[in-house]
Amino acid sequence: MDRPESSSDHRTGSLTSQELWHSTEERRTCQEKLYEFLEILSAYRLAMNTINWDQTVSGAPIAGVGFRSKGYGVLTREHYRFLVDPEFRVLLEAFSREAGTLEGDIAREWLIELKRIEKIPKDDYTEFMTFLSKSEVEWEEAKRASDFEGFKSHYRIIFDTARRFSEYIGYDQHPYDAWIEMFEPGMTVKKLDRFFGELRAEIVPLLSGIREKISENPQHYDFLSRAIPKEKQEAFSRRLLEVIGFDLNRGFLKESEHPFTNAMSIDDVRMTTHYYEQEFISSIFSVLHEGGHGIYEQNFDRILANTGLDGGASSAVHESQSRMFENAFGRSKAFWRKLYDEMQAEFSPALDDIPLDTFIEAINRVEATLIRIEADELTYSLHIMVRYELEKAIFEGALEVEDLPEAWNRLMRDYLGVEPAHHGEGVLQDVHWAAGLIGYFPSYALGNAYASQLLHFMKQEVDVERALRSLDFGDILEWLTLHVHSHGKRLKPEQLIEAATGKPFDPSYYIQDLKAKYKERYGI
Ligand code: ZN
Repeated sequence: MDRPESSSDHRTGSLTSQELWHSTEERRTCQEKLYEFLEILSAYRLAMNTINWDQTVSGAPIAGVGFRSKGYGVLTREHYRFLVDPEFRVLLEAFSREAGTLEGDIAREWLIELKRIEKIPKDDYTEFMTFLSKSEVEWEEAKRASDFEGFKSHYRIIFDTARRFSEYIGYDQHPYDAWIEMFEPGMTVKKLDRFFGELRAEIVPLLSGIREKISENPQHYDFLSRAIPKEKQEAFSRRLLEVIGFDLNRGFLKESEHPFTNAMSIDDVRMTTHYYEQEFISSIFSVLHEGGHGIYEQNFDRILANTGLDGGASSAVHESQSRMFENAFGRSKAFWRKLYDEMQAEFSPALDDIPLDTFIEAINRVEATLIRIEADELTYSLHIMVRYELEKAIFEGALEVEDLPEAWNRLMRDYLGVEPAHHGEGVLQDVHWAAGLIGYFPSYALGNAYASQLLHFMKQEVDVERALRSLDFGDILEWLTLHVHSHGKRLKPEQLIEAATGKPFDPSYYIQDLKAKYKERYGI
């Protein structure tokens, strides 16, 4: 297998910025060259994102997947060619020695990615990317048909490749670390074991206490399954996005199987939700969740656009924003005080007889369910724990892909007391593995914990309750933009949390929030 030329080109690593430029004029020329590369790389990324969007949302014919995958493969290859271009490498090495400049930050960020990718043989990398673009489409069909047998060879290829890539990339302690690091720089299996350990110790007993309460006094909220036409849900979704401050002139909302956000650029942020006529709150919380992601993508400092420092600091910091909008804001009574009247009117007569308090109780109920994206705030991290443990076990060789469904069902039973009737609501429910997003799941749980810590300190400066009551997100967005959004990737997750809150990351804010909220909700 041939390796990228620049990985063996040691000469490039020893050039210094002084050798590249001796004057401001020469530096400017180098800077222009650097930005030229960044623009080319952004253009390829835009094209690849557009193909993804076309496949998952626009309903491109399944029959065309072969030709699209081929085209996607070419784009990936060309993108890679520019990425490992020796001239780009020389520029990055030179600028990376600059402290306190934007170009220095840009260069250091790209070198991390570049050094990782250079360790993976080019053919292996391209083949994997092409495979993923196809497998993501085929997953939809497999999920619909609940066909694990037909899809397991895909999972096998993906996990085998993931393990192989870990060996190429390298890791300190655990092969899974190489993938976790990609989404959450600085995070490791060792730290996550401790984090999930604390969560398990606190949440599992709390959940069993709540289950006991529920079995003594079952609460039913049948109104949640009253039929709401899709068009009405669509109209209200747009209203929700407007309220939370998503700029609808620079983005939009469509529908897909699995809700997600795809930022084509800072001025073109696309999100999806999924409408279920008989489960209207599903889309409401998907829209608030993706809206949190979308706002983050719209609010970073504009000078970072197309530099590679645009977008979120990490997956977990991204998730902290989506979960904050979904849970801390979206499930609060203050948020719904005015908005509930609007929703009742929009969905009339479906909710005419349901008072606000009943709605608030219903959206804050705890219920062990099968589907992660439908999970309540308390059981959510347990769903993540299931996936974390399975991924870890596969990397350790303690679990074979073949045995995933059985292991999945067992963990669901152990943590949540429920078991899927078919794989579509079990091991096939998430697109992540099919899309090669191994190591991504822990971000969701970490994101919840980051959100709690950020909010705790935001409340010392912003009257969040009043902002929510008046549906005026101005002060909230100002705080988030200043402390989180504007930085893009310029701060690493740990730096960002510490800079925003004055304290290193501490999961106890999250655990205390959950305990306080749900003990009160269930009178424990
Ligand atoms: Zn998310």
